This record gives sequence, structure tokens and C-alpha cells, in this order.
Amino acid sequence: MLGCLALNSSFEPLTMVPLRRALRLVIDGKAEIVEADHEALVRSERLAYPRPIVIRLAKFIHVPRRFRRQVTNTFLFARDRYTCQYCGRPSVQLRPRESLTRDHVVPLSRGGLNTWTNVVTACSACNTKKADHLPDECGMHLLHHPVEPHFVHLSWAVRRLTPTQAKYIKMFYGAEVLHQIEALENRSVAQRRLG
Ligand SMILES: [Zn+2]
Repeated sequence: MLGCLALNSSFEPLTMVPLRRALRLVIDGKAEIVEADHEALVRSERLAYPRPIVIRLAKFIHVPRRFRRQVTNTFLFARDRYTCQYCGRPSVQLRPRESLTRDHVVPLSRGGLNTWTNVVTACSACNTKKADHLPDECGMHLLHHPVEPHFVHLSWAVRRLTPTQAKYIKMFYGAEVLHQIEALENRSVAQRRLG
């Protein structure tokens, strides 16, 4: 089931929350409903509410920068379009025993860091071949230079947005960011279907 988009009090889109949790926040006065589906009622103990689609928190929540920057494979693979950044094979073309992995361009053993600008998606075969080398040392070349994705890309790269929810992303970040998210989303949907 689709979740509810939670906005900060500043209207910054924060995250998707399960419906029940969204409703609990509203009932407790910690959030207000910004957009709701009035055709679908959700019942609490006593009352029936229209199904919340977008809620806005009453108090401003500070999101620590380290959470925004954390590298996870889910978002790393989405950033790199589920494609090995060395051989260019997408995950659907990998052999049965191969998988996508996280490669450190400058290996950890040689002082490389686990940061967005030093990690890329690599198939297990390329990762094994590269081992503790720099790409140049073993004749391997990156298809794209790794960059840190915008926080909002990370949050929505792997989630489905309804048109109403998308409107708030567009309102806060602009149409360009929304298009990028939708492009990522379509890829991950295609990925799930094929995978
Ligand atoms: Zn590869």
C-alpha cells in the first residue's frame, strides 16, 4: 500500500510514513493533514478520517546531515542505474552467480573513504578483478565520475509517489528534481519487474 508523504513544518518533503503512523501523528496533534483522499476513510478507535496522502509536521524537525549523506547499497545502485560502472552491464545482464556490489574507487586498504564520491556500483566480477587496485592500475575505466546525490534523490529513489505527493516535491525542489526522481523511480520499477 502507498504510504503518506510527511512534510517538515517548512514544507520540505521528509519521508514516507505508513498510513497508521501518519494518522497517529494527526490524532496526537503532531501533524496536520495537507492532502487527503476523501473517498477512502480510515477508522481510528472513535473517528473516521479521510485517508491522509500528505501530512505536515507541526514542529520543525532537524535532519542531521550525516543521515542525508549515508551511503547505502539501495541508493548507490539506484544512483548508478543498477549498472556496473566498469563493464557497463546492467544487473539484468549479470550471470546467475554474479551480483551488484559496492566498489571503493580508491580502495579502503589504501586510504579511500566510504563516501559518495569514492563509491560506485560494480558487478562482482569487476570488483574481484579490481581488488585492491586503482582503476588505472588494472586498465579499468569508470563510466561516470561518482557524485553525491541530492538528499531528495536518496529518499525517493526507491519509492512510489502519487501525483498529489509529487506536487509537493515539485513545489519544494522544482520540476527538474521531480523529473530526476521519476526517472530513477521508473528504472527501479523496471528493475523489479525484470529482476
Ligand atoms: Zn562489471
